[in-house]
Amino acid sequence: MAWVITRLCRDCVDMSCVEVCPVDCIYQSQGGEFPNQLAIDPEECINCGVCEPECPWEAIYEDEQVPDVFQEDVGLNAQVSSAKDNFAVPETDEKDKPTPDQIAENKTKWGLN
Ligand code: SF4
Ligand code: SF4
Repeated sequence: MAWVITRLCRDCVDMSCVEVCPVDCIYQSQGGEFPNQLAIDPEECINCGVCEPECPWEAIYEDEQVPDVFQEDVGLNAQVSSAKDNFAVPETDEKDKPTPDQIAENKTKWGLN
């Protein structure tokens, strides 16, 4: 079991999760075809759940709770384990937090609602 960053993170990439992860297992692609979202290495994640409430975009789920429309993201997160050279722990970057309307619009954009 691990936690998964879904596409609700895509292009938001607020990085609040990175700041709190105690084992630095949240990664960013260093180029290539990977979408602009962060990903959790499922082999390094200790399942502490600390990152989930820190995400302003509500993008992080336990793997067993990932909605059907985001199942592809489970495989994207697993790519960190299988292609580690392509990923690195990013520098954190303070950003404005989204409003409730923006959070809802992002969920609708990705088919959650
Ligand atoms: S806090 Fe949420 S939106 Fe920000 S990088 Fe982490 S998962 Fe993505
Ligand atoms: S559940 Fe804990 S260990 Fe796993 S990514 Fe989140 S903060 Fe890191």
